Amino acid sequence: MNKELPVAAVDLGGTKILSALITTGGRVLARHLQPTNASKGKDAVLQSIAEGIEKMLAENGLKASQICAVSVAAAGAIDSEKGLVTDSPNLPGWHNVPLRQILAERFGVPAFVVNDASAAALAEHRLGAGRSLKNLIYLTVSTGIGGGIVADGRLYLGSDGSAAELGHMTIEESAGRDNCGNYGCLEMLASGSAIAAEAKKRLKEGRASSLAAMDLDDIDAADVAQAAAGGDELSQQVIARAAHYLGLGLVNIVNIFNPDVIVIGGGVSRIGEPLLEPARRLVAERAFKLPAGRVRILEAELGDDAGVLGAALYAREY
Ligand SMILES: [Zn+2]
Repeated sequence: MNKELPVAAVDLGGTKILSALITTGGRVLARHLQPTNASKGKDAVLQSIAEGIEKMLAENGLKASQICAVSVAAAGAIDSEKGLVTDSPNLPGWHNVPLRQILAERFGVPAFVVNDASAAALAEHRLGAGRSLKNLIYLTVSTGIGGGIVADGRLYLGSDGSAAELGHMTIEESAGRDNCGNYGCLEMLASGSAIAAEAKKRLKEGRASSLAAMDLDDIDAADVAQAAAGGDELSQQVIARAAHYLGLGLVNIVNIFNPDVIVIGGGVSRIGEPLLEPARRLVAERAFKLPAGRVRILEAELGDDAGVLGAALYAREY
């Protein structure tokens, strides 16, 4: 593999596929964005991934022989060693899909598959908020909550590639059963879906709020955050509740990993300090003193490029 050449990296999401050409230094040369159309099924999505890469290469006057690898970051259980998408909640019909082999055959270059949050963890460690630090935990808070672990500078994926499901640690067992089968997961309490659901629940109880003017079905976490910033008390309480549960999750993470940094990414992290400040305070109050004194809890720096940058790094390093 000629590592001087760019990597064609892909962030395969439930709604969008982002392809990018990425240099050795982690510079994005080109991007190509297209809808996933996951409901059209596995074969259609596989075709879209390949066509997106081909289109991007053609737009930049490149042939497949002028990239060193194709590398895909995808949500769900990914077995990077075997090159399989074992299971993906956002992609109906995907079970044990040999994505690495399919792409390697199509493009005639080495191919890689890695979990998207693990890819983002690697990217934030090498190029973003965790530069020059040894141990990093990445938490993506969006519709759900995912995680990635960089330990001693290396990505930790677990024996089956299933490690770092940080959104599924039990925080409040009485909160009921999660889709994953466990009870009271962090994701049920501090994700974007959880914020929206809690706001709707309180509105249905007839509580006063500026959100009451909206159609209940349309309310999402960004609306709640915006209303909170505008002084709406119900929304502020909902954000504070999510921040509290996020903080409980971070206390566990700090006690288990003693990381240098916890990087919080994903759409909900854009709420910023109203979410992070109470969570930091809880860590200071409840985690073991030594690791609590060490850890920095920071917003992610790489935004929507984290997945493709991490996928490219993974191809070059692993
Ligand atoms: Zn769960």
